Amino acid sequence: MVGKKVKHRSTRMRFLVQEHHARQLHYDFRLEMSGVLKSWALPKGPSLNPADKRLAVMVDDHPLEYFGFEGIIPAGHYGAGAVVVWDQGEYSLLEGADPAKALESGKMVIELHGMILKGGFTLVKMKGRGENNWLLIKKKDAYSQAKWILPRALTKEKEAGLQERVPPCKVD
Ligand code: MN
Repeated sequence: MVGKKVKHRSTRMRFLVQEHHARQLHYDFRLEMSGVLKSWALPKGPSLNPADKRLAVMVDDHPLEYFGFEGIIPAGHYGAGAVVVWDQGEYSLLEGADPAKALESGKMVIELHGMILKGGFTLVKMKGRGENNWLLIKKKDAYSQAKWILPRALTKEKEAGLQERVPPCKVD
């Protein structure tokens, strides 16, 4: 055999969680991959408690320009309501080296390097529950928190500073 197979540490890419005060409050979890933001809507938001299995409904890919979007989506537009960044940072793969391949397999084991979300997480497709239903589950590690309470990003002060903006794409 010619050449040695070298195990590369997977490159870090960006992740983002937006708190979206649409008709129903939810959290949009997005992973940069293959030139887009792969996206899931979490009705209850992420959790640092490994006992929580948070439903993550896969939605349409978003363009990279949507990274960091904050604003109030005007009434009459899809997803009308306030969108604020809840957390952002980088992620890397804990298993495998190709995010697209991991996604395709229906299971991504990732490490998040955010301000709020840190450590290992498993994002796994639910079996027999439709094409788009996944679960986001915290791995037990130094960053897990048994008594996790989801912090709110949108404060009155924050909301007062938001501009009405139509996002660069359809939002979830
Ligand atoms: Mn949304």
